[in-house]
This record gives sequence, structure tokens and C-alpha cells, in this order.
Amino acid sequence: MSKTEFKSESKRLLDLMINSIYTHKEIFLREIISNASDAIDKLYYISLTDQNVGLNKDEFKINIEIDKPNRIITITDNGIGMDKDDLDNNLGTIANSGSFKFKQENEKNDDVDIIGQFGVGFYSAFMVADEITVQTRKYNVDQAYQWKSSGADGYEITEIEKADVGTKIILKIKEDTDSENYSEFLEKYKISALVSKYSDYIRYPIIMEMEHRKLREDSDLENPEYDEVTEDEVLNSMIPIWQRNKKDVTEDEYNEFYKQKFFDWENPARVFSNSVEGVVTFKSLLFIPSKVPFDYHTKEYKKGLQLYSSGVLIMDKCSDLLPEHFSFVKGVVDSQDLSLNISREMLQHDRQLKNIASTLEKKIKNELSSWLKNDREGYEKFYANFGRNIKYGLVADYGAHKDNVKDLVLFYSSTEKKLVTLKEYVERMGEDQKDIYFATGESIDSIDKLPQTEYFRDKGREILYCAEEIDEFAFQSMGDYNGKSFKNIVNEDVEEEGDDNKTEAKNDDDTLKFIKDTLGDKVNEVVFSKKLKSHPVCLTAKGGVSFEMEKYMALAQPEAMVRAERVLEINASHPAVNALIANITADKEKAEKYAKLLYNQAVIIAGLTVENPSEYADLVCSLMN
Ligand code: ADP
Repeated sequence: MSKTEFKSESKRLLDLMINSIYTHKEIFLREIISNASDAIDKLYYISLTDQNVGLNKDEFKINIEIDKPNRIITITDNGIGMDKDDLDNNLGTIANSGSFKFKQENEKNDDVDIIGQFGVGFYSAFMVADEITVQTRKYNVDQAYQWKSSGADGYEITEIEKADVGTKIILKIKEDTDSENYSEFLEKYKISALVSKYSDYIRYPIIMEMEHRKLREDSDLENPEYDEVTEDEVLNSMIPIWQRNKKDVTEDEYNEFYKQKFFDWENPARVFSNSVEGVVTFKSLLFIPSKVPFDYHTKEYKKGLQLYSSGVLIMDKCSDLLPEHFSFVKGVVDSQDLSLNISREMLQHDRQLKNIASTLEKKIKNELSSWLKNDREGYEKFYANFGRNIKYGLVADYGAHKDNVKDLVLFYSSTEKKLVTLKEYVERMGEDQKDIYFATGESIDSIDKLPQTEYFRDKGREILYCAEEIDEFAFQSMGDYNGKSFKNIVNEDVEEEGDDNKTEAKNDDDTLKFIKDTLGDKVNEVVFSKKLKSHPVCLTAKGGVSFEMEKYMALAQPEAMVRAERVLEINASHPAVNALIANITADKEKAEKYAKLLYNQAVIIAGLTVENPSEYADLVCSLMN
């Protein structure tokens, strides 16, 4: 019988796994038990509507047997089992698993430990076993199969006889070496301790035969006599962690649960649970990851919460429970009010589900608000990871969620030089300031250098610097914040008290006309500026469309050809502008060159691209000659 090779990526990862000097070998057990539990979940779910399964809820179990002399651990479940294709697809390749992709991306870090902390499910067993045999029969399939492998060189699948549906995993434990002790995994006390540590909440009994000293029934109490007996013992408490009293669960337990359940190798940044009684009664246990999931910004990432009905898993990722702007939240929801018979499709339209979702949205919002209030540093770290996502909540669904989100978003402040909330901004606003000022641009740095911001900064005004394309849409969608409207100082002619640096030249319409005629339809208007100080020119956008929007739309919807109306503002007290004016009569050709030069400068400062770079270069050269 020839061996089937593992897919090439799998082989590489397996090699790494087998040869890694890994200190947490023990996680192999939790991975196998968790697979067994998932398999039972699946069959249990079927059994609710299919009489043929023939098992009651309390008949589902996971068994562990230890054969110390032969160095064998066997883990047996009566879950759904696997057929030949399942074995090939599930155990023949790990290339598609999230952990592998993660490993690939982080290969440079050379951090082999990640493999173990992350767990690569079933394959972690190769850390302690040099041979793994899987005997399995799938529900509704007559033929049973055996899958056998001793590591990276491949696996064999053969047909076998197996009376019961379910899966048996047989691990041949490695011999001890000078540096590694594998024999401890053949000790019952050790296995029992590992189950308590990692798999206590598993909702099916994990059973192992244990030796006890038992008081002999007819023994005299004065002079007790004991028998050594072996009895099946349930090693886990079986109470789901979210059903336990918050104060009885340690931080470690929450962290372990999170890492195992949601395939993260780092502790969550935030854990919060809720017990809600009302129209719909439910418990939730939610987590916020401390890092952005590696696939978060890809199509592969699916938002959602695990949905249970009285402890029975109905859906692994119920996306309807989370709005898009909170898609980073992971966790579990358990409600006794959901009927198990409703099909999964039906469930999506379920009114109860909608009710849970809207309650959860508020709970998450409250949790984030109190985080922001009580641990600014922690919140800002979180915000660096997921803030952009939250901002989308301001525009999503035509602004339907904006009130839930408006106090969770942060913007960079020109005066505070750090991230601030809109509330903080408004509280600092002077009596004489009507609107919230913001400025859009490519980056905080480039916005800070814009001629427009210079003017307001000098007046001591606080400006919110907005370098994300979403920002402007967000303000537009909000309309106002607690009655204060938003003004983009890059675009709008914001009238400020004491704006009177008007000069004589202001009434010089000939100059403006000359420049406009020279530039043609490159600009919609040329005006004397009230806000320019050290810069000769700037470009502002008129009408609703800003330059940042124009840039965004050029990427998002190029066919729409959205273009901002360009207004060239010139600074009448700047020597460069004066030189231009002087030349209009003295040397018209030169004046035209100056006008084009200043226009292109304004284009560059606005973060737009010069339409014809080589023409612009020629222009500069001709002026230098
Ligand atoms: P993961 O559990 O993360 O999907 P694993 O490598 O642990 O990755 O397992 C791969 C797949 O093999 C599982 O998703 C499941 O489909 C199947 N599998 C593993 N163990 C069992 C089992 N005891 N019973 C049925 N299927 C199993």
C-alpha cells in the first residue's frame, strides 16, 4: 500500500512542528478533545431532528484510555466521524488552515513557538507521538476507515471494520530523550490535570478509568479497610464558561478559552460578559483581540459570534449578531429562547436574533465607552487596530448607527498633538467658535503643513487632522455633533472674527482675470485669499466635493469622474504674487509663466498630482534661464 504525500506546504509545517523544541507540548490533548467535542456537536445537532442517530444527549462522550506499557493514549468520541474524503481533506492538508497562513507570513520572525501557542489542531499530536492512527466511521456511512501516519513522509488510508459511528485517535507516544520527557503523558494524573486545565468547559463528559481507594462496605468504621478499585471518572466539570458566575472564573480561564476557541495565540485585550433578561433572555461572553487578526482585511475574514441554544451550538459564526463596525468582536451567545428546530437559514431572519443583535450592539458600545473613559492608553492601542472600522459605523446604513459610534471615534488634534474625541473638542471650543474645524489631506504631517491650517493655527484654533478617506464622509453623514457643524477649512471659506487682512489688491479684478484666462479651465475661480500668510497660493475645493473625495472616488468609482471644483487662492501680500502682478504689464509672457508655476505649486501642496510633470519641469527651467 503506497503512502499519500502530504501537500507540500503541510509537509513543511509538519517538519517544523515535529522538530521544534517546543515547551507546551501538552496542548496536543486539548486540540484532540476539542475536535472530538466539535464532532459530537455536529452529530448531536443532527440527532435533534433525525431519530436514526439513536443517541440521547447524555450518551455522547469522550473517552481517554492509557496503555502505559505500550506507550499508547487512545481518545475516542461518538461524534459524526469521517469518511474517506474527510480524512483526505481534513487530515491530509493543513495548507488552508489559518495557522499555516499565519506561519508563512511570519516566517521571517523565526518564532517557532508560535506554532505551539497557536495550535495547529490535530497535527500538534506529532509533538508527542511518533505514530498516529485514526479509526473512524461517519454517520450514515457503512464503511469505516483507518488513517495512519508517522509524520512528514505521508499517510495511508485503509478500509477497516468498525461497529460504532465516531472516531478513535490512537497516539503512540515518543520515547524519552535526554532533554525531553514524553512519558509523563502516560500518567493518568497528568492527563486528568491537563483536562482540567484546558478542557474543563467541554460540554460532554471526558471519561477516564481512575484508580481509587474505596472504603470496604462491610468494613468496621473504627478500623477502616479499603479496596483499590478502578472506576470511570468524569474529568471535566462540563459547565460552559459563559454559564459560570463571573467571579468564579479566573482571568487565565477566560484567556485560555478565548485562545483555544478563536485560534489566537495572544490573550484578548478585553473580556466582557453580559447576562440579559428581557424580551429575549441570553448570556454573552465577548472578547476583543489584542492584535488585528491576520486575515481581518481580507475577504476570508468572516465576522460573527458563536450561537448556542441552551449550550448546544447552532451556528459557528452568526454574522447577523454583529454590525459591520464591530466585526472585530469575537465571542459566544447562548440563549434558551431560540428554538432549535428552526433551520439555519430561517434563523437569520429570526426576530429574536435581531433583538439580541441590537442589545449586543449597545453592550459593546458601552464597553468601549467605559474602556475609553477608564483606560485611555489601552483604548488607543485598541483604536489603532480597529478604529478605522468603528468610523465606518458613522456612514454605514445611511448613518443609522451614528449615535452609537460618535463618541467612540478619535481624531488627531492640531493643538493637543494627540487623538481626541469630538466631545473633548467641543468642550474646548471658545465661545466665539461656531463650528468644528477639520482639515483633510494625505497625512497628519502634510495637513500640518498646508497653508490653510497655518492660518487657523496662528489664531489658536484647534483643528482635527483627517488623513483617512472615510473621515470626510463620516462628518458628512453625521451632519453635526451635538449641534455643532463640521467645517473643512481646506475647502470652505470659514469666516472668522477679525478676518480683515484685506489689501488694496483685493479690488484688482484685472489680476484675477489675467490668471484665470491664463489657466483656462484648470481652475474654476481665482480669488484673493484671506487666510494665506507665508505661502503665496493654495488650492481649495468649492461645492460639496473635496480633493480627498475626488481622490477616493477616482479609485472607488473612476467612471463617475467626480471632480472637485478648484479655486486658486492667491496671497496679495506675498512677493511672488507681487512679482506676477508687476509683470502683467511689464512682461506678459513671463507673467503667464509665473501664473502657471504658482498654480502647479498649489496643486502639489494640495496633495494632487501635477497634470503634466514634464511641461512643469520645462517651465521651471525656462524661468531659471
Ligand atoms: P481544526 O479543528 O482547526 O479545523 P484540525 O487539524 O484539528 O483543525 O482538524 C481538521 C479537521 O478534521 C476538523 O475540522 C474536522 O473536520 C476533522 N476532525 C478532526 N478530528 C475529528 C474527530 N474526532 N471527528 C470528526 N472529525 C474530526
